[in-house]
Amino acid sequence: MSFSALGLSDEIVRAVSEQGYTSPTPIQAQAVPAVLSGGDLLAGAQTGTGKTAGFTLPLLQRLSAMPRQKINGHLPIRALILAPTRELAAQVEESVRQYGKYLPLTSACIFGGVGINPQITLLKRGVDILVATPGRLLDHMQQGTVNLQHIQILVLDEADRMLDMGFIRDIRKVLAALPPKRQNLLFSATFADEIKKLADSLLNNPALIEV
Ligand code: AMP
Repeated sequence: MSFSALGLSDEIVRAVSEQGYTSPTPIQAQAVPAVLSGGDLLAGAQTGTGKTAGFTLPLLQRLSAMPRQKINGHLPIRALILAPTRELAAQVEESVRQYGKYLPLTSACIFGGVGINPQITLLKRGVDILVATPGRLLDHMQQGTVNLQHIQILVLDEADRMLDMGFIRDIRKVLAALPPKRQNLLFSATFADEIKKLADSLLNNPALIEV
């Protein structure tokens, strides 16, 4: 199995081979076609399985296939990836940059514990893909410095850790600010009742993947 056989474009396959990957991991082999099809996804995957590329690669491809138009003079954020910690958010954004290096897409990463002003500057410039921790994203929403009305793809990465860290209320507030018509991807290592509840309310007829 090759990355191009999964339906990924030459630009993405080239970036992936430059990372030294020769073939997709099991989660990638299942998640890539599922996400490319445009449907929702519920994936059970631990760190180290290649889950980040599993959602990032098809997300990049879907965004690059959609029109990239300014709205009121601003490039709208079209994909939102929520992650539990600043370290994970930064890692995910680094993957987005690496895998998307041959695509005309931009990204930003916002998390707490650092000044908010440089993040406001980044957001003003306009990005296609935003990676964020829930608390700081909510700060930006409350200050009116982020617009989530044009999100077409939402990813919750390590959803179980986000719930363990007490982010459920923040996540619900973020969800309420998103447009109803969008693709939702939920990744979690475990499936306690709280995750199942979140998945039930968030996902429409999701593809199920467990590795
Ligand atoms: P993750 O589970 O997303 O945290 O990824 C774990 C590690 O696997 C990261 O260091 C990736 O760079 C690496 N990785 C992801 N996909 C592949 C692949 N198809 N082949 C080899 N390594 C990979």
